[in-house]
Amino acid sequence: MATMRNIFSVIIYILLFSAPGISAAQTSTFPTTDDTRRVPVPPHDYSADPLLVLQGGTLINGTGTAPITDALVALRGDRIFYAGNAAGAEVSTEEGQVIDTSDLYIVPGLIDLHIHFTQQRGNFTRYRNSDAASAIRGVLLLGQLADAGVTTVRDVGTSNDVALRIKEAVERRMVDGPRVLWSGNLIAARGGHADEITSTATGKPKSTATASRVRVATGPWDWRLAVREQIRKQADWIKLTSPYTREEVTAAVNEAHMQGIPVTVDSFGKYTVWASEAGVDSIEHPLALDEHIIAVMARNKTDFVPTLTAFYNVEKTGYPSAGIPSGGFFFTFARRYPVVHAQHLEMVGLAHESGIRIGVGSDIPFENDVRYPEDYYTELRLLKDAGLSDADVFASATRVGAEILKMADKLGTVEAGKLADILVVGSNPLEDIQNLRDVKLVVADGRVIRDFTK
Ligand SMILES: [Zn+2]
Repeated sequence: MATMRNIFSVIIYILLFSAPGISAAQTSTFPTTDDTRRVPVPPHDYSADPLLVLQGGTLINGTGTAPITDALVALRGDRIFYAGNAAGAEVSTEEGQVIDTSDLYIVPGLIDLHIHFTQQRGNFTRYRNSDAASAIRGVLLLGQLADAGVTTVRDVGTSNDVALRIKEAVERRMVDGPRVLWSGNLIAARGGHADEITSTATGKPKSTATASRVRVATGPWDWRLAVREQIRKQADWIKLTSPYTREEVTAAVNEAHMQGIPVTVDSFGKYTVWASEAGVDSIEHPLALDEHIIAVMARNKTDFVPTLTAFYNVEKTGYPSAGIPSGGFFFTFARRYPVVHAQHLEMVGLAHESGIRIGVGSDIPFENDVRYPEDYYTELRLLKDAGLSDADVFASATRVGAEILKMADKLGTVEAGKLADILVVGSNPLEDIQNLRDVKLVVADGRVIRDFTK
């Protein structure tokens, strides 16, 4: 059994790091925030940061190369400085912390591309829902994500600034959890998805006031303004929802891209075609897809985050504690089509065969408190059901997820120069992706945030 130990008396001297600070390769581009906004930050001297070494075991670095046995991964501050064979590291140890990972598997931290910190229900029963309640539930969700080894999440629609505050709380280490990228508030048409006066999930009447998680926009220039407002709020991504006109979605995507911010969309049917033709970066959900739409997405290299589980739950069980019935979406104007899991699987399989990048997103909009991380593992299983191999699903949860996030230079693999987001598991996920459940150690932003080895 692996043990963790602190070694302060032995000198760790790694030839690769003999030059102070970060290597030339890593400073060739100027330092920025570790999100898609890429805001310049002052250079950081890593030589003074604490050293953490994972020693022994098998490294599956996520690039697709063969696993490396007798591995060593060395971290300084929030960066990986060495990841490879222990012998090749030419390490003799001194200062710092060494963790014995013999017999374990070192893999990249997992990515969940589709969560909502503020759309959960549960936990509170006495009062109406509120942003304060959402923020508390969001912090609880951070803990559940950390337990599962999820080290990066993308929030795709929040109420007011809740997800931004959670992002900052993690960055400032007020609370342990995955790094957060957020998409500001949903941009929607008047009466469109998220602005209906009946609930999408329950079909029941809700307030006629526009919710604080939605920015309703009308016409191309207002869709541009709505994008600018989210960027002003420091959103890392933009999230659009259909319906919209072709002109509106094109204007919104152009505006965001002009400012270097990526865009994802919750859409179906012709709206997906228009978004893909407009150059949107990714499509969320498997909603009302067909062969023609998949062909359009493949041609435009539109990424795909199917969130199969969210709709599998809708069809099979509903979300009982949130009062959501099973079988589909009823009495909702914005989602006038059946929810059919078998057809979703078929379309994800076709997308994968067509070369479309597939990401892992759970989108558990209700009952996060009881469904996470189990539904993340369900998503991995359903992607396999759709035709992806264990190795494909592993890539989707790590490297491909980072590519879809536009963060592949910093996340998704365990390689020198990348951010130190690492998961250590007890069995090989390439043999069975469900082995990711066997969490032993979670390192986020260079710090051990979970240790289940003892
Ligand atoms: Zn969602």
